[in-house]
Amino acid sequence: MQPTPPTPLVNLYDLPRAALGELLAGWGYSAYHRDLLWEALYRQQVESFDALTGLRPDLVQALRERTRLERPTTHHEVFSSDGFTRKLLLRLRDGQTVETVLMRFKGRATVCLSTQAGCAMGCVFCATGQMGFVRHLTPGEIIGQVLHVTRILRETNESLRNVVLMGMGEPLHNYEGTLEAVDILVDQLGLALGPRFITLSTVGVVPGIRRLADEDRPVQLAVSLHGATEEERGALVPAARKWPLAELMEACRYYSEKRKRRIFYEWALIAGKNDTPEQAHALGQLLKGMDAHVNVIPLNPTVGYAQRPSGPDAVRAFQDILASYGLPSTVRQRRGIDIDAGCGQLKAAVERPRRSPQPTVS
Ligand code: SAH
Ligand code: SF4
Repeated sequence: MQPTPPTPLVNLYDLPRAALGELLAGWGYSAYHRDLLWEALYRQQVESFDALTGLRPDLVQALRERTRLERPTTHHEVFSSDGFTRKLLLRLRDGQTVETVLMRFKGRATVCLSTQAGCAMGCVFCATGQMGFVRHLTPGEIIGQVLHVTRILRETNESLRNVVLMGMGEPLHNYEGTLEAVDILVDQLGLALGPRFITLSTVGVVPGIRRLADEDRPVQLAVSLHGATEEERGALVPAARKWPLAELMEACRYYSEKRKRRIFYEWALIAGKNDTPEQAHALGQLLKGMDAHVNVIPLNPTVGYAQRPSGPDAVRAFQDILASYGLPSTVRQRRGIDIDAGCGQLKAAVERPRRSPQPTVS
C-alpha cells in the first residue's frame, strides 16, 4: 500500500485574519493571540518562527509544527535607467515565476502585483497572454509579493502607498485568491492599505464585475477595453468573445450605479489599429454620460506582436475626440520600458528559450 502523502502545511500568509482566528480557535487560542500573531506578520513583518518572541511559546511551537511562513524568493531582478522602477521576477514554491514591479515616484511607492502564473485570456499584444495559463496564485503568494517589496522599502524608510493588480494574470479569473489577498492588504491591524489606493484591473470578466459590485470589495475598478466595437475588441482580446461589449458595459453600469464609484477604462494605443478617429468616436459613444476615466497607454512592444505604439500626435488626437464627449483621459507613462516592465515581459525575456510560443485561449 502507498503511504498517505503528508497534508501540506498551511501557509500563514494565505489566511485573512478571520480565517487565522478560526485556525487558532481550533487549537484553543483566543482572538487576542490571533491579533498578536497578525501584528507580528504584517506590522513587524517577522520572517521566521524564531522571531515570534511576543507570543506564547506553546503557540509558537504549534505554529512551527502545523504551519509554514512562506514567501517568494528572488529569481531575477532589474533596475530601470529612469531610476524609479525595479522589476522583480519572483520564484514560487513550485518553481513558477511571476513578475512584481516596484515603482517609486515623488516619495510614493506603488507595487504592481501578479495574480496568476500566466493568463488564459490571450490578449494578442500582451507578453503574459502569449505564454498561456499555468495556475492561479494563492492569497499568500500575492501577499508574499507585497511583503517582498515592503522589505525593500523599509531599507530606506519608505512605505507602500498604492497597489495595482495589473501584473501577470487576470484577477477576476482568480476571484477568491485575489480578493482574499485584498482583505489582508486592507486589514487595519496589519498592512492597512487604503481601499482607494488598491486598483484591480480586469480584461472584463462580466460575472466577476457583477460580484464585485454586489460584495462591495475595497478596490478601484479598471476595465481594459482596447476596442470599442465588437470586431476590434475581439481581434485584440480573444476573451471578449465570451463577454460581448454590450454585456460588459451593462455590468460596468451596474457596478457604477451600485457602488457610486468611477470606473477607469484602459486602452493600449496601437498605431493604425485602435488609435483611429472611428475607434475614438465609438469609445466616446460607448462611455458618454458614464462616470468614466480613460487611461491611454501607448503599446509596449512585445516579441510576439509586431505592432508599434501610437505617436504623440495620434495620442493627442485620440484624447481630443474623447474630450468632445466629455470624457477625461490620461496618458500613462510606460515607466521602465528599458527593463521590459510591461506585463509578463521580463519573464518572457528571462525565460525565452524555454517558453512555448503558443497562446492558450479560454
Ligand atoms: N489582466 C488584467 C490585468 C493585467 S494587464 C487586464 O488585462 O486588465 C494590465 C494592463 O496592462 C491591461 O490594461 C493590459 O491591457 C495592459 N497591457 C498588457 N500588455 C500590454 C502592452 N504590451 N502594452 C500596453 N499595455 C499592455
Ligand atoms: Fe491576461 Fe491582462 Fe495580459 Fe490580457 S492583458 S492576456 S487579460 S494579463
